[in-house]
Amino acid sequence: MSSKPTFFTPGPSQLYPTVENHIKEALEQNIPSISHRSPQYIEIHKNLVQNLQKVFSIPDSFTFFVGGSATQFMERAIQNCVEETSFHFVNGSFSRRFQEISRDLGKNSLQIKVPLGETFDFDNIEIPEEVELITFTSCETSTGVEFPTEEIYKIADRYPDKLIAVDAVSSAPYYDLDFSKIDIMVFSVQKGFGMPAGLGVAVVSERAVEKSKQILAKGVSVGSYNSFPLILGKAREFQTLETPNVLGVYLLNKVLEDMLEYGIQKIRQETLEKANLIYSYFENHPKFSPYIEDKSARSKTVVVIKYEKPKEVLENLKKYNFIIGGGYGEEKDTQFRIANFPSNSIAKVQELMDKFKEIYG
Ligand SMILES: *Cc1c(COP(=O)(O)O)cnc(C)c1O
Repeated sequence: MSSKPTFFTPGPSQLYPTVENHIKEALEQNIPSISHRSPQYIEIHKNLVQNLQKVFSIPDSFTFFVGGSATQFMERAIQNCVEETSFHFVNGSFSRRFQEISRDLGKNSLQIKVPLGETFDFDNIEIPEEVELITFTSCETSTGVEFPTEEIYKIADRYPDKLIAVDAVSSAPYYDLDFSKIDIMVFSVQKGFGMPAGLGVAVVSERAVEKSKQILAKGVSVGSYNSFPLILGKAREFQTLETPNVLGVYLLNKVLEDMLEYGIQKIRQETLEKANLIYSYFENHPKFSPYIEDKSARSKTVVVIKYEKPKEVLENLKKYNFIIGGGYGEEKDTQFRIANFPSNSIAKVQELMDKFKEIYG
């Protein structure tokens, strides 16, 4: 048994295996003290953008904004791309947050809402004419429901004049989006990238930037802090307006390099294999069951399991240095969650499942 715990929590989570060394190197190179206007910083930021383009196959026309969290960029997306009406697919706490942000900014925030743990009736979706931006949550981290990319693309094709925003926080880099179909992707780094929290990224299309300029030109506020028109110039110079999380930018660039070297397709393939290991144990167990009944709606990156005494499971596993996640939201007392992020290898996941077998049969 190793002396260090392994985190299977859905964020913050297990650090990517190379992060510890990258932090040491960053300190040796005084990265946290360098100026965010220095050529050294600009070079790191530029490499980060290039590596993001590679990992997600993002066209050159997209702009990359770097900030403090995904939530910040969810708000920026609404503020900059919605003059009056937004539309949200709501099936849990995180997708609801997107809708609430819009509501709290005084927008008309329309939604389709389904019960927790369920997916949407994709054959019967109607989005009103006046909607400017549609938001999707790729993995609803509170319930473990995945939003299929094909369904996002179908909606994008049906409503070509509407902007599409995707919260990919707990599914990136597994979730592979077609950027010809979407306008905004937001993510942060403490989940699938296995990094310390405190860095968020928004990838934004020209169309979305244009929309924010149009709203501003009408005399409607698009906010001040990190509004798209305000930070566009800086982003294109590989900088930020405020002082960024320089260490985070450095680390994300390094982690992306490592992931590209390991092979991003291999990471995605292994995510599927690990998800199979986890789900197949719980599907076949008399006491546990996957929270989501519809197999096709189950997230590969956040697995939610129904069990009457989740705290006991967390405590039992902790004794063996496995830290798994508790439930989240309304049904948290009858659930636990297991994150399936790239930081934990197939062998580690196998160890976790062996431990479950040993304790629960
Ligand atoms: C964790 C999470 C967020 C919030 O990310 P922050 O970095 O804390 O802003 C948003 N959406 C989803 C789906 C998440 O899992």
